[in-house]
Amino acid sequence: MSEPELDVCEFYGVNPCMIKCLACNESSGIALLGRLTAYRVKEMFGKDALNTLNHSINNSGTAYYEAPHMISGNELCDACTEKNKTMVLFIANKGTFFLKDELLPRVLTDKDLVERVLERRVCGVDDEVFDAIAKPAKSSPGEKAAEVGTNESV
Ligand SMILES: [Zn+2]
Repeated sequence: MSEPELDVCEFYGVNPCMIKCLACNESSGIALLGRLTAYRVKEMFGKDALNTLNHSINNSGTAYYEAPHMISGNELCDACTEKNKTMVLFIANKGTFFLKDELLPRVLTDKDLVERVLERRVCGVDDEVFDAIAKPAKSSPGEKAAEVGTNESV
């Protein structure tokens, strides 16, 4: 059985980048990307990243790229993980928001769907739904029904 290899870039070392929390966009960790060739950069970040990321070329003419300073992650930071215990995370193109579990039946009328969303703790929604729920009507002072990523509170 072979040992896993750590692919260290000769110019950028282990090539670290910060990972953004899926919900609040705050830093939730660090990824060590190792060597990033043009092929890997295109594969991971799209071909436009070849023009935006710093790079150096070694003696044999191979370009190695510096990792982006921040990338979007699929994980929640510690604070959002804690919120997600009592609130469901809703994800739209416009942003994210948390909604208290007890308010879910007011938003979703299908009882089976409510149960599934409560189990999974996350729900994808259209931007129209985001606007309807995350853009709050006037609420009582101090009353907070949902917390919105990027990042408002309802
Ligand atoms: Zn977070």
